[in-house]
Amino acid sequence: HRAMLAQYKDKEGATSDGRRVIIEGNIGTPDDAVRVAELGGEGVGLFRSEFLFMDRTDLPSEEEQFAAYKKACEIMQGKPVIIRTLDIGGDKEVPALALEKEQNPFLGYRAIRICLNQPELFLIQLRALLRAAQYGDLRIMFPMISSVDEVRGAKQVLEQAKDMLTAEGVPFNPNVKVGIMVEIPVAAVCADVLAKEVDFFSIGTNDLIQYSCAVDRINEKISYLYRPLHPGVLRLIAMTAKAANENGIEVGVCGEMAGTAGMAPVLCGLGVTNLSMSASAMLAAKADLAKHSCGECKELADKLLACASASDAERIFTDWRES
Ligand code: PEP
Ligand code: MG
Repeated sequence: HRAMLAQYKDKEGATSDGRRVIIEGNIGTPDDAVRVAELGGEGVGLFRSEFLFMDRTDLPSEEEQFAAYKKACEIMQGKPVIIRTLDIGGDKEVPALALEKEQNPFLGYRAIRICLNQPELFLIQLRALLRAAQYGDLRIMFPMISSVDEVRGAKQVLEQAKDMLTAEGVPFNPNVKVGIMVEIPVAAVCADVLAKEVDFFSIGTNDLIQYSCAVDRINEKISYLYRPLHPGVLRLIAMTAKAANENGIEVGVCGEMAGTAGMAPVLCGLGVTNLSMSASAMLAAKADLAKHSCGECKELADKLLACASASDAERIFTDWRES
């Protein structure tokens, strides 16, 4: 089995009839990119930058962040590296920010909301990213976007970071691509509007499922309600992908769902163009895709979208996997 998978290492992700689906890796530290590169990842689809901020009592400086982002770019040798700006709050704590405890942390002061409210913190990260973007195809991604206003606000701070660097004579790459995570249901519903503001989407299914099904993603007691194949979740993904495709921008999935066995053809059928997952899942995803034509993926996705319930969709998915 392992030898069978190894043949995909140097191949691009694609269906049997050549529809490209770019297969990328998720990382938490720059060193994680080594495995992504070794296992044939076509890029880094999600660098969770908050890991640089966690398990410590101070904040990482601009220089420290710059070095980390630059390293990830260098390891990936010109392949795309999508770096997500600080996504804390929810279940992720940053001691140095001393955030207040909240009743509903997943619905609270977190991610882009913190960054827009504390631009001094955001600017340091954006400056580091712009500088590191000289060393590869670095792309910036904003998490937890719920409206066009937030996208515009974040892009404004990015412009401010560029102005500061220019004024100081610090070299940087001004042509960085900017994208957003689609992980809040209203963002998926308004994807047609958001697609006009950004260069790419990445669907965060971990949060999209949590928010659309109203199921706390870390509460075991209700995990039976956390269903990636809920037809409502699939419709949100399809809507997002359609808006992206119509506007000519890439649309990835970077939640757990992307790396789940058998899901690559489903997501391809829903119109997704990129899949980012743990490095260990990349070869199997390429193999899953190569087994089917684009038409077959589409047919499967349409069947799942038409299901009345998650259980119906899960049954169809399992039968299809076993046939
Ligand atoms: C997601 O929400 O699907 C995602 C990829 O981000 P995180 O798991 O870090 O919230
Ligand atoms: Mg998320």
